[in-house]
Amino acid sequence: MVWRHAILLEPAASDDPRTDFAELLTPIDPTAPALSVGELSTQRGDGIFESIGVVDGHAQEVEAHLERLAHSAAICQLPPPNVAQWRQAVQAIARECPPGECVIKLILSRGVEHGPAPTAWVTASTAPDNAAVREHGIRVVTLDRGYDSGAPARAPWLLLGAKTLSYATNMAAIRAAHARGADDAVFVSSDGVLLEGPTSSLVLRQGDRFVTPEPGAGILHGTTQLSLFSWLETQGYETGYASLPVSALREADAAWLLSSVRLAAGVTAVDGEPLAYDAALTASINAYLLSPRD
Ligand code: PLP
Repeated sequence: MVWRHAILLEPAASDDPRTDFAELLTPIDPTAPALSVGELSTQRGDGIFESIGVVDGHAQEVEAHLERLAHSAAICQLPPPNVAQWRQAVQAIARECPPGECVIKLILSRGVEHGPAPTAWVTASTAPDNAAVREHGIRVVTLDRGYDSGAPARAPWLLLGAKTLSYATNMAAIRAAHARGADDAVFVSSDGVLLEGPTSSLVLRQGDRFVTPEPGAGILHGTTQLSLFSWLETQGYETGYASLPVSALREADAAWLLSSVRLAAGVTAVDGEPLAYDAALTASINAYLLSPRD
Protein backbone atom coordinates (compact mmCIF):
# COMPACT_ATOMS: atom_id res chain seq x y z
CA MET A 1 0.00 0.00 0.00
CA VAL A 2 1.24 3.50 -0.78
CA TRP A 3 2.02 5.55 2.32
CA ARG A 4 0.95 9.20 2.06
CA HIS A 5 1.14 12.34 4.22
CA ALA A 6 0.21 15.96 3.55
CA ILE A 7 0.72 19.43 5.05
CA LEU A 8 -1.09 22.61 4.09
CA LEU A 9 0.84 25.88 4.31
CA GLU A 10 -1.89 28.22 5.53
CA PRO A 11 -1.71 31.84 4.41
CA ALA A 12 -1.20 34.19 7.37
CA ALA A 13 -4.05 36.36 8.59
CA SER A 14 -2.03 39.44 7.66
CA ASP A 15 -1.94 40.84 4.12
CA ASP A 16 1.47 39.34 3.54
CA PRO A 17 1.05 35.59 2.98
CA ARG A 18 4.75 35.13 3.65
CA THR A 19 4.83 36.16 7.32
CA ASP A 20 4.11 34.35 10.60
CA PHE A 21 4.59 31.03 9.00
CA ALA A 22 5.91 28.89 11.83
CA GLU A 23 2.62 27.82 13.35
CA LEU A 24 0.85 27.65 10.01
CA LEU A 25 1.99 24.23 8.83
CA THR A 26 -1.20 22.24 9.21
CA PRO A 27 -1.12 18.46 8.76
CA ILE A 28 -4.18 17.44 6.74
CA ASP A 29 -5.78 14.09 5.97
CA PRO A 30 -4.21 13.09 2.62
CA THR A 31 -7.16 10.83 1.81
CA ALA A 32 -9.80 13.52 2.41
CA PRO A 33 -10.87 16.29 -0.01
CA ALA A 34 -8.71 19.35 0.63
CA LEU A 35 -8.93 21.77 -2.29
CA SER A 36 -11.64 24.24 -3.17
CA VAL A 37 -13.40 23.64 -6.50
CA GLY A 38 -12.32 27.20 -7.38
CA GLU A 39 -8.63 26.21 -7.28
CA LEU A 40 -6.74 27.60 -10.26
CA SER A 41 -4.28 24.71 -10.03
CA THR A 42 -7.02 22.28 -10.99
CA GLN A 43 -9.00 24.62 -13.27
CA ARG A 44 -6.06 25.90 -15.29
CA GLY A 45 -2.92 24.08 -14.18
CA ASP A 46 -1.87 27.52 -12.94
CA GLY A 47 0.84 26.84 -10.42
CA ILE A 48 4.28 25.34 -9.93
CA PHE A 49 5.71 22.31 -8.19
CA GLU A 50 8.84 20.44 -7.14
CA SER A 51 9.42 16.71 -6.56
CA ILE A 52 12.13 15.93 -4.02
CA GLY A 53 13.60 12.47 -3.55
CA VAL A 54 13.83 11.13 0.02
CA VAL A 55 16.14 8.27 0.99
CA ASP A 56 15.75 6.81 4.48
CA GLY A 57 14.20 10.03 5.76
CA HIS A 58 16.81 12.33 4.17
CA ALA A 59 15.34 14.82 1.67
CA GLN A 60 17.89 15.25 -1.14
CA GLU A 61 19.15 18.59 -2.48
CA VAL A 62 16.48 20.62 -0.69
CA GLU A 63 18.16 23.99 -1.33
CA ALA A 64 18.46 23.38 -5.09
CA HIS A 65 14.76 22.48 -5.21
CA LEU A 66 13.79 25.59 -3.19
CA GLU A 67 15.89 27.76 -5.53
CA ARG A 68 14.14 26.28 -8.54
CA LEU A 69 10.73 26.79 -6.89
CA ALA A 70 11.61 30.48 -6.48
CA HIS A 71 12.83 30.62 -10.11
CA SER A 72 9.58 29.03 -11.38
CA ALA A 73 7.56 31.47 -9.23
CA ALA A 74 9.40 34.43 -10.78
CA ILE A 75 8.77 33.16 -14.33
CA CYS A 76 5.07 32.63 -13.53
CA GLN A 77 4.72 35.95 -11.67
CA LEU A 78 3.64 34.21 -8.48
CA PRO A 79 4.56 35.78 -5.10
CA PRO A 80 8.13 34.85 -4.12
CA PRO A 81 7.93 31.70 -1.96
CA ASN A 82 8.99 32.09 1.66
CA VAL A 83 11.94 29.74 1.45
CA ALA A 84 12.26 29.34 5.24
CA GLN A 85 8.63 28.25 5.45
CA TRP A 86 8.98 25.72 2.65
CA ARG A 87 12.23 24.39 4.13
CA GLN A 88 10.48 23.91 7.46
CA ALA A 89 7.59 22.08 5.78
CA VAL A 90 10.02 19.79 3.91
CA GLN A 91 11.86 18.99 7.14
CA ALA A 92 8.59 18.33 8.99
CA ILE A 93 7.25 15.95 6.34
CA ALA A 94 10.62 14.21 5.79
CA ARG A 95 10.58 13.25 9.48
CA GLU A 96 7.33 11.35 8.83
CA CYS A 97 8.74 9.37 5.88
CA PRO A 98 9.22 5.62 6.42
CA PRO A 99 12.62 4.02 5.62
CA GLY A 100 13.35 3.45 1.93
CA GLU A 101 12.59 5.85 -0.92
CA CYS A 102 9.84 8.45 -0.82
CA VAL A 103 8.91 11.51 -2.80
CA ILE A 104 8.00 14.91 -1.37
CA LYS A 105 5.99 17.22 -3.60
CA LEU A 106 5.83 20.97 -3.07
CA ILE A 107 2.90 22.66 -4.79
CA LEU A 108 2.29 26.39 -5.05
CA SER A 109 -0.87 27.33 -6.92
CA ARG A 110 -2.15 30.78 -7.84
CA GLY A 111 -4.93 30.02 -5.38
CA VAL A 112 -8.68 30.11 -5.54
CA GLU A 113 -10.24 32.16 -8.33
CA HIS A 114 -10.69 35.76 -7.09
CA GLY A 115 -9.10 34.67 -3.78
CA PRO A 116 -6.58 36.71 -1.82
CA ALA A 117 -3.54 34.41 -1.72
CA PRO A 118 -1.83 31.46 -3.35
CA THR A 119 -2.54 27.96 -2.06
CA ALA A 120 0.43 25.91 -0.96
CA TRP A 121 0.74 22.33 0.17
CA VAL A 122 3.33 19.62 0.58
CA THR A 123 2.79 15.87 0.27
CA ALA A 124 4.98 12.84 0.83
CA SER A 125 4.40 9.30 -0.37
CA THR A 126 6.38 6.15 -1.02
CA ALA A 127 8.30 6.30 -4.30
CA PRO A 128 7.74 3.78 -7.09
CA ASP A 129 10.27 0.96 -7.34
CA ASN A 130 12.82 2.14 -9.91
CA ALA A 131 15.39 -0.62 -9.35
CA ALA A 132 14.86 -2.34 -12.73
CA VAL A 133 15.05 0.84 -14.78
CA ARG A 134 18.20 1.95 -12.92
CA GLU A 135 19.80 -1.41 -13.66
CA HIS A 136 18.63 -2.15 -17.20
CA GLY A 137 18.11 1.32 -18.67
CA ILE A 138 15.51 2.73 -21.05
CA ARG A 139 14.85 3.02 -24.79
CA VAL A 140 14.07 6.55 -25.91
CA VAL A 141 12.63 8.21 -28.98
CA THR A 142 13.30 11.80 -29.99
CA LEU A 143 10.13 13.90 -30.23
CA ASP A 144 9.67 17.37 -31.72
CA ARG A 145 8.68 19.78 -28.94
CA GLY A 146 7.07 22.02 -31.54
CA TYR A 147 9.06 25.17 -30.61
CA ASP A 148 12.27 26.45 -32.15
CA SER A 149 15.20 27.39 -29.94
CA GLY A 150 14.28 31.09 -30.09
CA ALA A 151 10.85 30.46 -28.52
CA PRO A 152 11.85 30.85 -24.83
CA ALA A 153 13.14 34.40 -25.42
CA ARG A 154 10.50 35.36 -28.01
CA ALA A 155 7.48 34.03 -26.10
CA PRO A 156 8.10 34.12 -22.31
CA TRP A 157 4.38 33.44 -21.72
CA LEU A 158 5.04 29.85 -22.75
CA LEU A 159 6.71 29.64 -19.29
CA LEU A 160 9.44 27.40 -20.72
CA GLY A 161 11.98 26.80 -17.98
CA ALA A 162 9.41 26.90 -15.16
CA LYS A 163 8.26 23.70 -13.48
CA THR A 164 4.57 24.40 -13.92
CA LEU A 165 1.66 22.13 -12.99
CA SER A 166 0.67 21.97 -16.68
CA TYR A 167 2.27 18.58 -17.39
CA ALA A 168 -0.47 17.19 -19.66
CA THR A 169 1.76 17.61 -22.73
CA ASN A 170 4.72 15.98 -20.95
CA MET A 171 2.52 12.99 -20.10
CA ALA A 172 1.25 12.88 -23.71
CA ALA A 173 4.88 12.74 -24.89
CA ILE A 174 5.53 9.69 -22.68
CA ARG A 175 2.43 8.00 -24.14
CA ALA A 176 3.69 8.82 -27.65
CA ALA A 177 7.03 7.22 -26.74
CA HIS A 178 5.24 4.08 -25.49
CA ALA A 179 3.19 3.95 -28.70
CA ARG A 180 6.49 3.89 -30.62
CA GLY A 181 7.81 0.96 -28.58
CA ALA A 182 10.09 3.06 -26.32
CA ASP A 183 10.08 3.75 -22.59
CA ASP A 184 10.65 7.49 -22.61
CA ALA A 185 11.21 10.51 -24.85
CA VAL A 186 13.81 13.18 -25.50
CA PHE A 187 12.40 16.49 -26.69
CA VAL A 188 14.10 18.21 -29.61
CA SER A 189 13.46 21.81 -30.67
CA SER A 190 11.89 22.23 -34.10
CA ASP A 191 15.30 23.44 -35.34
CA GLY A 192 16.98 20.23 -34.20
CA VAL A 193 18.51 21.08 -30.78
CA LEU A 194 18.40 18.46 -27.98
CA LEU A 195 16.38 19.63 -24.95
CA GLU A 196 15.27 17.28 -22.11
CA GLY A 197 13.00 14.37 -21.31
CA PRO A 198 9.34 15.07 -20.40
CA THR A 199 10.24 14.51 -16.72
CA SER A 200 14.05 14.41 -16.78
CA SER A 201 17.31 16.03 -17.86
CA LEU A 202 19.53 14.59 -20.58
CA VAL A 203 23.25 14.00 -19.98
CA LEU A 204 25.62 12.70 -22.68
CA ARG A 205 29.08 11.23 -22.31
CA GLN A 206 31.57 12.28 -24.97
CA GLY A 207 34.87 10.62 -24.05
CA ASP A 208 35.84 11.95 -20.61
CA ARG A 209 33.48 14.91 -20.92
CA PHE A 210 29.85 14.92 -19.78
CA VAL A 211 27.52 17.48 -21.37
CA THR A 212 23.92 18.55 -20.94
CA PRO A 213 21.76 20.98 -22.95
CA GLU A 214 21.93 24.60 -21.76
CA PRO A 215 19.10 25.53 -19.36
CA GLY A 216 18.68 28.78 -21.34
CA ALA A 217 17.16 26.66 -24.12
CA GLY A 218 13.80 26.76 -22.29
CA ILE A 219 14.28 23.60 -20.23
CA LEU A 220 14.41 22.93 -16.50
CA HIS A 221 17.77 23.09 -14.82
CA GLY A 222 17.78 19.63 -13.24
CA THR A 223 18.82 19.35 -9.60
CA THR A 224 19.95 15.75 -10.22
CA GLN A 225 22.09 16.81 -13.20
CA LEU A 226 23.65 19.61 -11.12
CA SER A 227 24.47 17.18 -8.31
CA LEU A 228 25.80 14.55 -10.73
CA PHE A 229 28.10 17.10 -12.39
CA SER A 230 29.61 18.08 -9.02
CA TRP A 231 30.28 14.36 -8.30
CA LEU A 232 31.71 13.69 -11.78
CA GLU A 233 34.12 16.61 -11.28
CA THR A 234 35.36 15.01 -8.04
CA GLN A 235 35.97 11.84 -10.09
CA GLY A 236 38.21 13.79 -12.52
CA TYR A 237 35.72 14.18 -15.39
CA GLU A 238 35.05 17.37 -17.30
CA THR A 239 31.46 18.66 -17.39
CA GLY A 240 29.74 21.37 -19.39
CA TYR A 241 26.61 22.89 -20.93
CA ALA A 242 26.22 23.08 -24.69
CA SER A 243 23.78 23.52 -27.54
CA LEU A 244 23.68 19.96 -28.91
CA PRO A 245 22.32 18.71 -32.24
CA VAL A 246 20.24 15.48 -32.31
CA SER A 247 23.23 13.67 -33.84
CA ALA A 248 25.13 14.21 -30.53
CA LEU A 249 22.72 11.79 -28.80
CA ARG A 250 23.10 9.13 -31.49
CA GLU A 251 26.89 9.51 -31.41
CA ALA A 252 27.31 9.73 -27.61
CA ASP A 253 29.52 7.22 -25.78
CA ALA A 254 26.62 6.88 -23.31
CA ALA A 255 23.54 8.86 -22.29
CA TRP A 256 21.27 9.10 -19.26
CA LEU A 257 17.93 10.64 -18.33
CA LEU A 258 18.18 12.05 -14.81
CA SER A 259 15.51 13.03 -12.32
CA SER A 260 15.03 13.33 -8.58
CA VAL A 261 13.02 10.17 -7.98
CA ARG A 262 13.94 7.75 -10.80
CA LEU A 263 17.58 9.01 -10.58
CA ALA A 264 19.84 7.88 -13.47
CA ALA A 265 18.29 5.79 -16.23
CA GLY A 266 20.87 4.82 -18.85
CA VAL A 267 19.73 5.08 -22.47
CA THR A 268 20.02 1.74 -24.30
CA ALA A 269 18.48 2.75 -27.65
CA VAL A 270 17.64 5.95 -29.53
CA ASP A 271 14.87 5.86 -32.16
CA GLY A 272 15.23 2.07 -32.41
CA GLU A 273 19.04 2.11 -32.80
CA PRO A 274 21.12 0.66 -29.92
CA LEU A 275 23.30 3.03 -27.87
CA ALA A 276 26.31 1.94 -25.79
CA TYR A 277 25.16 1.32 -22.21
CA ASP A 278 27.63 1.54 -19.32
CA ALA A 279 26.07 -0.61 -16.58
CA ALA A 280 29.00 -0.19 -14.15
CA LEU A 281 29.13 3.61 -14.38
CA THR A 282 25.32 3.81 -14.15
CA ALA A 283 25.44 1.73 -10.95
CA SER A 284 28.11 4.05 -9.48
CA ILE A 285 26.08 7.13 -10.43
CA ASN A 286 22.95 5.71 -8.78
CA ALA A 287 24.90 4.70 -5.67
CA TYR A 288 26.07 8.32 -5.43
CA LEU A 289 22.56 9.69 -6.06
CA LEU A 290 21.13 7.41 -3.34
CA SER A 291 23.68 8.63 -0.75
CA PRO A 292 22.61 11.55 1.47
CA ARG A 293 23.08 14.76 -0.57
CA ASP A 294 22.60 18.42 0.46
N1 PLP B 1 13.12 18.37 -16.91
C1 PLP B 1 11.81 18.18 -16.68
C2 PLP B 1 10.82 18.63 -17.71
C3 PLP B 1 11.37 17.61 -15.47
O1 PLP B 1 10.06 17.45 -15.24
C4 PLP B 1 12.34 17.19 -14.52
C5 PLP B 1 11.94 16.58 -13.25
O2 PLP B 1 10.83 16.27 -12.99
C6 PLP B 1 13.69 17.36 -14.82
C7 PLP B 1 14.05 17.97 -16.02
C8 PLP B 1 14.75 16.90 -13.86
O3 PLP B 1 14.78 17.71 -12.72
P1 PLP B 1 15.26 17.14 -11.31
O4 PLP B 1 16.56 16.44 -11.55
O5 PLP B 1 15.42 18.35 -10.48
O6 PLP B 1 14.22 16.20 -10.83
